[in-house]
Amino acid sequence: MKLLEGKKTADQIKEEIKEQVAQLTSVGKRPPHLAAVLVGTDGASLTYVGSKVKSCDYVGFESTLLHLDENTTEAELLAHIEKLNQDPTLDGYIVQLPLPKHINEEKILLAIDPTKDVDGFHPANFGRMALEMDAFIPATPFGIIELLERYQIETSGKHCVVVGRSHIVGRPISILMSQKGAAGNATVTLAHSRTKDLIALTLQADIIVMALGIPEFLKADMVKQGAVIIDVGITRVAVATHPKGYVIKGDVAFDEVAPKASYITPVPGGVGPMTIAMLLKNTLLGYLRKA
Ligand code: NDP
Repeated sequence: MKLLEGKKTADQIKEEIKEQVAQLTSVGKRPPHLAAVLVGTDGASLTYVGSKVKSCDYVGFESTLLHLDENTTEAELLAHIEKLNQDPTLDGYIVQLPLPKHINEEKILLAIDPTKDVDGFHPANFGRMALEMDAFIPATPFGIIELLERYQIETSGKHCVVVGRSHIVGRPISILMSQKGAAGNATVTLAHSRTKDLIALTLQADIIVMALGIPEFLKADMVKQGAVIIDVGITRVAVATHPKGYVIKGDVAFDEVAPKASYITPVPGGVGPMTIAMLLKNTLLGYLRKA
């Protein structure tokens, strides 16, 4: 069994981006600029946005955090979005989800200029991605593809079972892995909560991508010997004795599945760090497209 060390790979990608930014600024060009919009004070969102800003600083990007009050109205948020769309010094921005309940997420998503949509959630980008056209690819599936490529894991002709069909992880990774090209050409089965006899599917799989959000759902008896296991899940599980009061668990029962796997991502330190690295990569791509 080999670990797919997302943290190490993400650090490497950040070094590559940092070097490219240093080259750009050394010839008098401005650095890429990423903004994040956060509405309210959700604990997990604050942590995610904080680490995105920190990563921007590390690679030499300019970053802007627009932290808005929980009571910001939908109209006010739309006005902020319009300003970000018009800002010529901004290469990309993200709106941290979830938004407070009184704001329609779909409306906000549709208002984002697709050329600045570095999360790749706008239908224009999602559609372009599905059609194998140049697009911003959502950072988590983009990170999985990058990880598979850098570890030279053969996907062509393999059977990949993706568990979870969300718009941000399961569905896009199922599309990407079935496409022609790097980390693609797999035969993909997309499973979800209505799937019957999931075990029969996962037992056939050469590659399993778990993205459902149920801690330690995938057990050893659901996996064939030598399978590649990608664990996207991140769930905070309360542990009173832990200093933080919780531990992070993935969707895979790591200790029992790892001995059967050929490759496996740990949680934490697997897909999570790759997501942030690919967000930076998307911002750099946005910058370069404009240059
Ligand atoms: P969603 O909650 O949006 O989707 C979960 C999916 O899992 C749904 O498609 C659901 O099916 C399916 N599902 C639920 N229960 C079962 C079951 N018993 N059997 C089979 N399928 C089931 O999740 P997300 O994609 O947003 O997130 C999934 C996990 O990944 C979470 O833990 C999240 O925190 C993590 N995550 C990690 C990221 C990272 O950077 N590493 C980034 C994004 C998410 P149905 O559609 O039928 O309801």
